[in-house]
Amino acid sequence: MKIAKYEHHGVEVSVRDDLKGRHREFCLCHMCKRFNPGVASNCRIAQATFKNCVEFNTTTPMWECPEFSLQETENDKEEKEAGGKVSRA
Ligand code: SF4
Repeated sequence: MKIAKYEHHGVEVSVRDDLKGRHREFCLCHMCKRFNPGVASNCRIAQATFKNCVEFNTTTPMWECPEFSLQETENDKEEKEAGGKVSRA
């Protein structure tokens, strides 16, 4: 497994080469109703995690979370209105 080094927000960081730039693919927050970055109503857990990332120049995808709440996409809403089930796992 290769480790890459690159400059992220002005600081050199190390990352698994195969995962570089892919944290959003794995992070639960990007599918969660509670995720509102940049506004006061943002999730307290996501906000604390982000604060830690800024302080230590890390990138931390959320793998598991007790407060996750699935965000509906426009496709989900249309499917529901048409009588279908939301099938994303
Ligand atoms: S509840 Fe969990 S998954 Fe949702 S935004 Fe907060 S930390 Fe992320």
